Amino acid sequence: MNMKKSIWIYWILVLAILFGLFRFSGRLDGSENITTTQGIAMIESGQVKSVTLDGERIMLEDLDGQRFRFIVSPLMQDTFYTKYLLARVESGEIELQTKSTNEGGFLKTILPYVLMLGLFFFMMNTLTKVGRTQSREAEEFTKNKAKRFQAVGDVITFRDVAGLEEEKTELYEIVDFLKNPAKFTAIGARIPKGVLLVGPPGTGKTYISKAVAGEAGVPFFTISGSEFLEMFVGVGASRVRDLFKRAKKESPCIIFIDEIDAVGRKRGSGLGGGHDEREQTLNQLLVEMDGFEKNEGIIMMAATNRPDILDDALLRPGRFDRTISIGLPDVRGRYEILKIHTKDKPLAEDVDLKQIAKRTPGFTPADLENLVNEAAILSARQNAKVIQRTSIEEASIKVIAGPEKTSTLITPEEKRLVSFHEAGHAIVSRFTKGSDPVHMVTIVPRGRAGGFTYMVPEEELNYHTKEKILGEIVVLLGGRAAEDLMLGDISTGASNDIERATKLAHAMVAKYGMSKTLGTLNYTDDESHLFLGKSLGHSKTFSEETLKQIDEEMREIISHCYQKAIHLLEENKEALIRLAEALMERETIYKREFDALFEEEYNPEDYKDDTLELF
Ligand code: ADP
Ligand code: MG
Ligand code: ZN
Repeated sequence: MNMKKSIWIYWILVLAILFGLFRFSGRLDGSENITTTQGIAMIESGQVKSVTLDGERIMLEDLDGQRFRFIVSPLMQDTFYTKYLLARVESGEIELQTKSTNEGGFLKTILPYVLMLGLFFFMMNTLTKVGRTQSREAEEFTKNKAKRFQAVGDVITFRDVAGLEEEKTELYEIVDFLKNPAKFTAIGARIPKGVLLVGPPGTGKTYISKAVAGEAGVPFFTISGSEFLEMFVGVGASRVRDLFKRAKKESPCIIFIDEIDAVGRKRGSGLGGGHDEREQTLNQLLVEMDGFEKNEGIIMMAATNRPDILDDALLRPGRFDRTISIGLPDVRGRYEILKIHTKDKPLAEDVDLKQIAKRTPGFTPADLENLVNEAAILSARQNAKVIQRTSIEEASIKVIAGPEKTSTLITPEEKRLVSFHEAGHAIVSRFTKGSDPVHMVTIVPRGRAGGFTYMVPEEELNYHTKEKILGEIVVLLGGRAAEDLMLGDISTGASNDIERATKLAHAMVAKYGMSKTLGTLNYTDDESHLFLGKSLGHSKTFSEETLKQIDEEMREIISHCYQKAIHLLEENKEALIRLAEALMERETIYKREFDALFEEEYNPEDYKDDTLELF
C-alpha cells in the first residue's frame, strides 16, 4: 500500500470531521440553516423580527422567536444591506444587531474549537501509529469495494425467484455444494468453479445470484465490473487479489462479479491499444481463478448481457465453465413473478394477474416489478386503499413508453402532423397480416416519442416469419406514409421508425437469410463492436460488390413496404381521417372506438368515456 496515499485519506477524514464540527457549532444556538434566497424571502415577506450580522453569516429571528441562519457572500453584502434591510431597519420593522464574540457565552463559542483541537491531536496520534503498523486500517479503507452480504435478515432465497425452474435446479447443485462441501469432496465430485449467468438486462441475473447466496447461507462477495474500472491505475488488479484473499479466508463462499463484461472484454483490443488497466485487472482475475482448487469451497459467479464480447480465456474449462442463460419469462413465469411482487400489496377485486401476464409478452421481470410498483404509486396518489386495475393499465403504458410529457407544448400544426402520423401506424397495422391488435392510439408525448400506438400481441411468438417481419416494416413506415399522403409534407418525427425499419430490413437480408439474391448466408459483421473493445484482427470483410448488393436488397424491401403502406392508407382514407380528427379532438382513443372507425354508423360521441382496457 502506498503510504502517501493513505495519509492523505486520513487528512481528508480529519478535515471532514472538523468541517462537520464547525457546522455543528453554528447549530448549537438552535438556529436552522436556510438558503440565501429563503432568507431574503423571509425578510421581504415581513416575517422577520431581528437580523444579526456576523461577517458573512446572517442570523434571522422570526416573529415566533425561531432562528434561522444563512450566508451572504462578502461581494453581495452591500447590496443585501441596502436593498433588503436598510428601509426595514429605518422603519423599525427589523431590529439590527451585529454579533459580539461574547454573546452566547464562553462555552458556546470556545467549546467547539477546544473539541476540534482535541480531535485533531487525537487523529494525528492515531495517524502516526497507523504509519508504524504499516497503515493497516488505511489499507482496509481503500481495499476492495466488494460488498459482503451475509445471509441474515431479509435475504432472497429461491422461494422469491419465480419461474426459472431449470436454472434453479442447476444452481441448486451449487447451493448444495456450498452447504456441505465435504459430501462432495469425499467422493471426488467435480463441482463447477465458475458459473456465468447470461441474459438481457432486467431478467434477474443479479437477483438469482443473491438467491443462491441466501439459499446457501454463505458469505457473498459482490463487486460490479464497472467498479473495478473506476479505480486508479494498478488498483484494479490488487483489488482482485484482495477479493480472493478475503474469500479464501471465509470459504465456503461466493464471489459474484456483476456486469463482468466491463472487465472481461477481449484482450489485445480496444482503441487505446494493448496494456490498459482493464487488461491487467482481467489478467489478475484469470490468475486468481486458476490459483484456487476446485473444491476449496469458493464458487465464482458472474453475470453479463454481452457474452459475445467476453475474452475467450474466461470461458475456458476451470474458469467460468458453466453458462446458464436466463431468458424472458413466459406467460406462466410472468404470472409467478407478478404474484411474488404483489405478495404484500392489496389488489382491487377486478385485478386479474393471469390476464396481466397474458398481455405482457416481452416484459422482463424488472418491467413487471416496475409495473406493479408504478401502479401502487398511482393508486396511492388517488388515495385508493387498494391497487386499482386502471392504475395497472396506466402503469403498463408508462413502463412501455415512458411517462406522459404533459408539459410539452405543441402547436396546432404539430398536433395535426402527429395525429396523422400515429393514425397512419394504427390504420396500416389493422390491415397488415400478423400485426398485433391496436389497443390505444395517442398523441400525448411520452418518453422520447411524440405519440404512440399501443399494440398488444395476442399470443407469444418465439420466432418470426418473413411475412411477419415485412408486416412490421410496413407498419413502421405507415406513420411517414400518412404524413406524405395527407399533408404532402414529411417530418423528422419518423426518424426512429425509419431507423427500426432499416435495421429489420438489414437483419432480413444479412442475418436471417431471407433474401433471394444473396441467399441463405450470414453477412453480419460480428466484429461490429470495435468500440467496445474487440479485436481488429479477425474482422470479416465483404467485397464492395456484396455490400452493394445488401444495400440494394434493403432499399428494395423498404420501398416495397412503403408502397404497401401508402396503398393501404389510400384504401382506408376515410378511417384515417376519422382517426386523425378524433386524435386532434381528444388526444387518446381506445380499442373500441378504433374498431368502430371502419363501420358506417361510427359516432365519436359514443366513446368519450372509454379508458384503456387491457387486463
Ligand atoms: P439483471 O441483473 O439481469 O439486469 P436484476 O437481477 O437486477 O436483473 O432483476 C431486476 C428485478 O427484477 C429484480 O430486482 C427482481 O425484483 C425482479 N426479478 C428478476 N427475476 C425475478 C424472478 N425470477 N422472480 C421474481 N422477481 C424477479
Ligand atoms: Mg444486474
Ligand atoms: Zn412513428
